[in-house]
Amino acid sequence: MRLGIVGGGPAGISLAWFLKGTKIQATVYEGLEDVGKKPCAWGVLKGIESYLELPKEAIYSEIRGFRIFLDNKLVSEVRGRERLGYIVNKPLLLKRLGEKVELRLNSKVVFDREGKLKVNGKVEEVDRVVVATGHYSLDKGATIPAIQYITDLPFDPEIVDMYFYSDLLGYGWIFPDPNGAKIGVGGYAEIPFLMEKLKGLTRGKIMSFHGARVADNGIIEDRLNGRYVGEALGAVYAVTGEGIRPSIITSKIMADSLLEGKDFGKEMRRSKIYWTLKVHADVIRRAKASNSVKGLERVLLKADPKLVIKFAMGDFGKLDLIKLFGSAII
Ligand SMILES: Cc1cc2nc3c(=O)[nH]c(=O)nc-3n(C[C@H](O)[C@H](O)[C@H](O)COP(=O)(O)OP(=O)(O)OC[C@H]3O[C@@H](n4cnc5c(N)ncnc54)[C@H](O)[C@@H]3O)c2cc1C
Repeated sequence: MRLGIVGGGPAGISLAWFLKGTKIQATVYEGLEDVGKKPCAWGVLKGIESYLELPKEAIYSEIRGFRIFLDNKLVSEVRGRERLGYIVNKPLLLKRLGEKVELRLNSKVVFDREGKLKVNGKVEEVDRVVVATGHYSLDKGATIPAIQYITDLPFDPEIVDMYFYSDLLGYGWIFPDPNGAKIGVGGYAEIPFLMEKLKGLTRGKIMSFHGARVADNGIIEDRLNGRYVGEALGAVYAVTGEGIRPSIITSKIMADSLLEGKDFGKEMRRSKIYWTLKVHADVIRRAKASNSVKGLERVLLKADPKLVIKFAMGDFGKLDLIKLFGSAII
């Protein structure tokens, strides 16, 4: 079977990587001239190693500590010897994985009226298509804006900081970067408000600025039809904006479903990633409905920091949720 994968981000490239050497001949079409161009803070949490081998040269640092701030005040801190994740060089990681699969750059895909895949205006004969175009294919209502500076702030390469605010349904972050730090903010707000928040976080000399939208609705049920993976399917943790690892996990489920002739939608619905993404999205939905972030605030201030970090990382079970939110969330 010839599979056309539209989009060369973590979801598209990993899907082809999971399928290499199998009966499925996958080709990834990336519209841009290179991979890894999309603005991103390059944080990938632990667990990824059981899906992909991360080339050493693509790992900038190993994360061993998390700090969580509410209104710029430290409320949770976990630091130890355990590796909690990585800061990767995302373009290099995608490039290295891309070298092992059939990846066509400068290959913008459109679908013609009959639904045929056209690359730079020419129809490509494929048997099946998977769309991995990230937030680009999502409605504005299913995403929030996120903006980021890269600065020369010297920052501990083993620590990531997450910021939450009582007047913003969203998040801020300071992540280590080879140049210093990536400092960003995303949320339900107009850009000028986010810019103000970002200014409040920013330290060091600004070297560059960029932004993009991020999905925040959890898995999109209508897209569980075997045609979408990654952020295009909604695979981003809504409370933290983490999308790389979840996107790769959806691609693994897609690859296994294709190879074993299973229904992708069913396999997804049974998976832990589906449920944990849904819980995150529910937390955001509730906050939106009540027009308040009080619930999240209470959790951040009162709960065991280790549990808060587990929740943030999507590494929680029902009991953890009850401890954090009470039985209302389940
Ligand atoms: C500012 C910011 C910071 C972030 N930081 C983090 C972080 O630190 N950690 C984390 O886990 N997540 C982070 N995210 C989210 C993360 O970047 C995404 O969730 C993740 O990259 C999604 O992977 P994907 O492969 O599904 O989509 P993408 O990475 O968006 O890749 C989609 C690809 O499809 C290509 N494409 C789109 N349309 C077409 C077309 N018609 N034809 C061909 N190609 C096309 C695009 O050029 C792109 O390369 C961040 C997001 C933002 C905006």
